[in-house]
Amino acid sequence: MARPWNFSAGPSVLPEAVLKRAAEEMLDWHGSGMSVMEMSHRGKQFIQICDEAEADLRTLLSIPEEYGVVFMQGGATAENAIVPMNLINLRGTKSADYVLTGQWSRKSFKEAQRYGDVQVAAASDSATVLGGVEQAAWTWVPQARDWHVRPESAYVHLCSNETIGGVEFVDWPELASLGAPDTELVVDASSHFLSRPMDVSRAGLIYAGAQKNAGPAGVTVVIVRKDLLGHALPICPSAFDYANVVEARSSFNTPPTYGIYMLGLVCKWLLAQGGVAAIEQANIAKADLLYSYLDGTSFYRNPVEKSVRSRMNVPFVLRDASLDAAFLAGAQEAGLMQLKGHKSVGGMRASIYNALPIEGVRALISYMQEFERRHG
Ligand SMILES: *Cc1c(COP(=O)(O)O)cnc(C)c1O
Repeated sequence: MARPWNFSAGPSVLPEAVLKRAAEEMLDWHGSGMSVMEMSHRGKQFIQICDEAEADLRTLLSIPEEYGVVFMQGGATAENAIVPMNLINLRGTKSADYVLTGQWSRKSFKEAQRYGDVQVAAASDSATVLGGVEQAAWTWVPQARDWHVRPESAYVHLCSNETIGGVEFVDWPELASLGAPDTELVVDASSHFLSRPMDVSRAGLIYAGAQKNAGPAGVTVVIVRKDLLGHALPICPSAFDYANVVEARSSFNTPPTYGIYMLGLVCKWLLAQGGVAAIEQANIAKADLLYSYLDGTSFYRNPVEKSVRSRMNVPFVLRDASLDAAFLAGAQEAGLMQLKGHKSVGGMRASIYNALPIEGVRALISYMQEFERRHG
């Protein structure tokens, strides 16, 4: 059976080689006679799997020694609460600032408000003109120099790739240059994690749900500088206190063992591809192909400001929305799955994560050309 091209935003396509390896090892991991799913999280086999996943992640992202890397549960949504519970009182002020660039950062902001004095540092919530072009709300990123970061805030939070709006930060600011030298940067990197090199040392904490680009649902990666630990609010559940989880190397309680194993296989696959710098080049090629096609036709349109278009999530609309249903039905028949846009924005969205080969993007474009020829 041929695999369809899967453009799902998450859970999403995984490398076929990883799935095959997992299938081969399903009943007998490395001569243990057991499936990884059946192993004790305290046994030496699983500890080896978990340590290797961590080591490979450290290699891929050049994570400095002073950062802890842990695998948690609850997804990025749980981190929206776990982050403020751990960090908002870092400096005794219970205050934090949020940069709002789309649905996910807005959700993070709302959740954090339950834990202290949480304010908006900047928001792309209205239309603006950039380079002479009118940009609609949530299709652009506020310049760091316009952020209002309170110097007493524990951290400023941003979502470095808005999965729904398709807006991606090109880089992360140095907070010292914004007049907040003691404020930490916290990044929700869920949907472009491992798609490109990241300067981990710029952030105090980075979190990412695995199911977008790094593995199956059920694992959340947290990278946190260890000097930020130990300031959790008293209401923070002990299983969600980063100090406990880092100390226990992800096994404060039973971690999502099979998910960690799968994430580890994805890391090994990435290393074999040449690491994140190499996969970044592949991702640039795929994104350039799709955006240049979209820009060359008036039948389809991507609304995002060009310099911050996501390489991972490409939303687009048809000029005539009454053709949406026919577009999706035809796509499905052509083996192009999950192209429907998020229900809050409508239209289409093609997520072109690491594991989606460029052939998938080519197949999408030829289907779009053919659809335009028939309906344009
Ligand atoms: C998917 C996603 C989330 C939510 O992830 P869950 O695992 O459903 O909690 C949060 N932030 C971003 C950027 C996402 O893409």
